[in-house]
Amino acid sequence: MAVQRTFSIIKPDATKRNLTGKVNAMIEDAGLRIVGQRRVQLSEDQAKKFYEVHAERPFYGDLVKFMTSGPVVVQVLEGENAIAKYREVMGATNPAEADAGTIRAAFAESIDANTVHGSDAPETAAEEIAQFFTDADIVG
Ligand code: GDP
Repeated sequence: MAVQRTFSIIKPDATKRNLTGKVNAMIEDAGLRIVGQRRVQLSEDQAKKFYEVHAERPFYGDLVKFMTSGPVVVQVLEGENAIAKYREVMGATNPAEADAGTIRAAFAESIDANTVHGSDAPETAAEEIAQFFTDADIVG
């Protein structure tokens, strides 16, 4: 499997509880490298655009409100099979269903305050990275 890049967000529930370092430790312990990283406050427009795919879902409004409720840390992660590997490290969307040892099992508070986002496919990874990073921001 080739080296890939994926896009990650450490969500407001985690930055609020000062968990950025603990989440990053789990990412690095899994063998992924953090090759780009920035702490930002998402605007409502940015959050809406990022989650556009969920625009028709009943939880879209709450999701946008949550993602703009505090700072987030946007990241580019690199490694062998990084997209699937990070999804494994994150655990299931609903923390009640997340396997032990995953970030969401360890830290997530609820299905929306679920600590991290990770891209689900190569195309979305490329699009999501481009929303927040230029090539010069990423140092592998
Ligand atoms: P992910 O790829 O595991 O983050 O999950 P999805 O792409 O399906 O959903 C995006 C985000 O929307 C999730 O991480 C949750 O924060 C939120 N979300 C998904 N499903 C639900 C739901 O049924 N209820 C609520 N409140 N939020 C949800």
